[in-house]
Amino acid sequence: MSDVYLRFVNTAFGKTAAQSLGLPSPVPLKRWKRGDQPFIEGNVLVGAVGDSKAVSHLGLALEASPAKVFHASSISVDTLKDSAKVGNRAEPLSLDDDIEQRFSALVFDATGMKSTEDLRAVYDFFHPTIKKLAAHGRVLVIGQDPASCRAPAKAAAHQALEGFVRSVAKEVGKKGATANLLLQAPGGEKALDSSVRFFLSARSAYVSGQVAKVGKTAEVPPVDAARPLSGKVALVTGASRGIGASIAETLARDGATVIGLDIAPTMHELQKVTDSIGGKALACDITDENAPTEIADFIKQHFDGVDLVIHNAGITRDKTLGNMPEHFWDMTIAVNLTAEEHIDEELMKQDLLKENGRIVCISSISGIAGNFGQTNYSAAKSGVIGYVEAMAKQVKKGVTINAVAPGFIETQMTAAMPLTIREAGRRMNSLSQGGLPVDVAEAIAWYCHPESNGVNGNVVRVCGQSLIGK
Ligand code: NAP
Repeated sequence: MSDVYLRFVNTAFGKTAAQSLGLPSPVPLKRWKRGDQPFIEGNVLVGAVGDSKAVSHLGLALEASPAKVFHASSISVDTLKDSAKVGNRAEPLSLDDDIEQRFSALVFDATGMKSTEDLRAVYDFFHPTIKKLAAHGRVLVIGQDPASCRAPAKAAAHQALEGFVRSVAKEVGKKGATANLLLQAPGGEKALDSSVRFFLSARSAYVSGQVAKVGKTAEVPPVDAARPLSGKVALVTGASRGIGASIAETLARDGATVIGLDIAPTMHELQKVTDSIGGKALACDITDENAPTEIADFIKQHFDGVDLVIHNAGITRDKTLGNMPEHFWDMTIAVNLTAEEHIDEELMKQDLLKENGRIVCISSISGIAGNFGQTNYSAAKSGVIGYVEAMAKQVKKGVTINAVAPGFIETQMTAAMPLTIREAGRRMNSLSQGGLPVDVAEAIAWYCHPESNGVNGNVVRVCGQSLIGK
């Protein structure tokens, strides 16, 4: 599960060899280290167009960080003439002059765009600055959800941001940097904070070329920034190893008490995970007919409900369709898809999923793009997307449901792949490397954050912008 090539090309000899042979030179990504680490440091440049409204909220978020904030003064935009709108500490910076600074983030509020002519402001902001983006930097663009734009020209302009961001992500990926797009609902500026912090921080190291929609949010009482999930109870399925173990550890780091669930033969490993985070272990096969009630009973026995339900358990049973035995099909659909529905149904029937609860499902890029030999797995993971999108319209009491779609993540599942396929999977993305379980876990922690209650019905890929699929 270790990426030998990544380590090799980051030696002096390996760097030279990769350059002369034209091989990819992935940069080891910087990941989140400690709870009190600021979400962003260094120089941050903010720009905006027209009467964009998100910028003042960006200002508030950035003001709470030690970053030195600049606002692009040379853009003839009224919004930025008042520097206070980007935080009281923000300094004007002319983009017409030579720019000395290197930026840890370039943030552009495009919510004020009204027509496709306004896209010129995007060029005017990024053209002189993109080469000044530091290694591991962040590009974050904020637009309006095109579905909420009545005028076709406005919808076109905001949709254009998606193509722009996906392309920028491909250009900056070689330095370990990312680019993402947040689409806000009209009047939903206040809901952006937790998402802005996630996409600007090291927590989103392996999330690039993604679009996340943020709707309006209800007022949330202030949370402890270092332990935002304090007092929450989380259920994580498939928690004995790999991505599930990392989700359990990450949610516990953020303050949650975790119930780790896995099949009985993994109890030794599961117990190690839950003991290390002060959680509880539950042996259960989620495909058993009685599993939903067993889970509900366990929750009632120890807690008064559950806040976060993370459907992580998954299996692959690969075979081309004509050679696939029926139990391969049945098991894969049952574990990856049907079990999730039944568990949610029972928890909601018994009113055990608490107010402002979170459900998170794990899809896969195989569910988006399809994969040779994985008709069963791709169908199940695509079904997960359908389930999340439909449920997002039905959930009540402040509950949200979202999915992550991992690409190539270094786990036992991918270690079992044949070498050539494994190596191709690792390199075929803008960051030229596989992700780590913690990358998926961090995205889930963002969905689970109390302030993310406007983030609902999303499928965000954690794939380093894999070349496969959209
Ligand atoms: P993993 O290492 O195989 O871990 C999955 C865990 O789920 C295992 O402990 C497994 O137990 C458990 N599990 C399987 N069937 C279960 C059942 N019926 N009831 C309870 N637990 C069960 O997988 P991973 O790589 O961490 O993947 C985690 C999730 O991410 C899965 O949903 C997977 O499809 C998805 N994903 C992974 C990748 C990747 O690159 N790794 C990419 C895309 C999506 P046993 O296997 O011991 O039975």
